[in-house]
Amino acid sequence: MMAISAACLSQTHGQLSSDVVKTSKGDLEMFFVGHGTLMFKFNDLVIHIDPTMREADYATLPDADLILVTHQHGDHLDPTAINHILKSDTRVVMTQSCFDQFEDFEATVMSNNQMETILGVGIEAYPAYNIKHKRSNGEPYHPKGEGNAYLLSFGTTNVLIGGDTENVPELKALTDVKIAFLPMNLPYTMTPEMVADVALALRPAILYPYHYGNTDPEKLVELLKDEKDIEVRIRELQ
Ligand code: ZN
Ligand code: ZN
Repeated sequence: MMAISAACLSQTHGQLSSDVVKTSKGDLEMFFVGHGTLMFKFNDLVIHIDPTMREADYATLPDADLILVTHQHGDHLDPTAINHILKSDTRVVMTQSCFDQFEDFEATVMSNNQMETILGVGIEAYPAYNIKHKRSNGEPYHPKGEGNAYLLSFGTTNVLIGGDTENVPELKALTDVKIAFLPMNLPYTMTPEMVADVALALRPAILYPYHYGNTDPEKLVELLKDEKDIEVRIRELQ
């Protein structure tokens, strides 16, 4: 597991910072766009995750081979951003409630617990939802069944994209997660303690808190300071 960290280096794509990880099938470069928004390059593939104009001008970013959308909230689903990066053969994976917002659009709708392999990337959808944090009317901010977390496989390297979730048992039960992006802002997702709880269950070699808003990521670093096999990496992902 530690070999991953040693192989990492930071690069830039325009203004975007990134980390590179070696996988059994080639380099994976992860660009930190902002909040819950990421861009990956895996060999020749460009993969956009929750692209939104709020975080970047997608007219200036590379076209997508694959787009993944975790759920329909505006900080994750933005049809304008998607339209900027679509090409004729772009594959799009999204939830039903995202797909419902489009007309004449081709996408692969994935529900919780479904699996696909697209362009050589393994994609498993898991439930992302709130147990504790609810709206004043008692509805969870993210009801179970609506949103997806995605476990992506690049060769033998598994990367968890948490989406908007809490420390739910379905995610804590995953095994062999090498890199985890876990959301940490209140009241919509997790406290640092909840993120630490997931991290202690998964023990990823690299943990990126993301979607962290005004939550201080140093609190997570402090909570995990004795866990030498989990490297917490703080990037510009407010
Ligand atoms: Zn959300
Ligand atoms: Zn969100």
